[in-house]
Amino acid sequence: MAAVKLALVGLGKIARDQHVPALLQSDSFELVATASPADRLQGVRSYPHLEALLRDLPEVEAVAICTPPQVRYELARRALEHGCHVLLEKPPTVNLSEGHALIELARQQELALFAAWHSREAAGVEPARAWLAQRRLRHVQVQWKEDVRVWHPGQTWIWQAGGLGVFDPGINALSILTRTLPAPLSLRDAELEYPANCAAPIAARLKLAMTPETDVAMELDFLHNGSPPAWDIDVDTDGGQLRLSHGGRLMSIDGSTVVSGADLEYACLYRRFAQLLVERRIDVDLAPLTLVADAFLIGRRISVAPFIE
Ligand code: NAP
Repeated sequence: MAAVKLALVGLGKIARDQHVPALLQSDSFELVATASPADRLQGVRSYPHLEALLRDLPEVEAVAICTPPQVRYELARRALEHGCHVLLEKPPTVNLSEGHALIELARQQELALFAAWHSREAAGVEPARAWLAQRRLRHVQVQWKEDVRVWHPGQTWIWQAGGLGVFDPGINALSILTRTLPAPLSLRDAELEYPANCAAPIAARLKLAMTPETDVAMELDFLHNGSPPAWDIDVDTDGGQLRLSHGGRLMSIDGSTVVSGADLEYACLYRRFAQLLVERRIDVDLAPLTLVADAFLIGRRISVAPFIE
């Protein structure tokens, strides 16, 4: 089968760090163009916005949308209406109604729509899911802490409404939990710290429940000065302690490493997108975003010092 002609929309950090290398390695896709207000990729046709790209290049069959989340819905809607298959960076949309609307539109258009949760492709995630399925869970503890000034310098959209603040990384932990734990999660309590000058939280503490006997505690911190960052999930079970660390790349049981994988998350995402395209299927799991929305619905807001980068 010929490679699918794909355009990248939003040529920022994640597009350059992960999407471009994954596409260059892929036999299934050919990167033919980019649409981004200011950024360009050498050797690839560049447009300042999606509209001009779609008008000029009718051969584009798929787009991957790597913009800040606030503009994602309109871009995805336009691409689907035009007849393109769509991959959405995480979070797929800034709210649930937009997510459901895109699913409905993709269904009507009979096109593939993929909400890419990259952390679910980390090497330890599927082995953890299989291991946990055989055990009774007692307690889950999540620590998701990084320094926003190191990992997201200058990204002002994170602090605007819809930018998610500390949930921008925190939703990765929720994407892993909602994949690996053997039953659905519900949110019980949330405390959100908002800098006085930001519309999104900089830290959060969540309490969730999986079943009456399994509680899940999450601590999210975007001002973590320590190095390296903490992207860890610990699960206490009747058959031992499971730890997923390094964002899910390492899995250990009772302190011994049992899985340690290379970073192939985006290669895996594009393999999955290629399969969805063939079958014109939709894979949009809104469970992680639902839990974030619930935190915004019931969370107690605490005002903290202004954020200064
Ligand atoms: P970023 O560095 O700020 O890049 C966003 C890019 O989108 C910029 O080039 C921006 O252009 C462009 N853009 C903005 N509005 C656009 C529009 N209407 N049409 C086309 N392009 C537009 O952000 P990022 O870190 O790459 O993050 C983007 C998304 O990927 C976020 O949802 C984030 O959660 C997700 N993600 C990020 C990482 C990471 O490590 N950074 C990891 C996984 C997922 P201008 O700068 O010219 O406005």
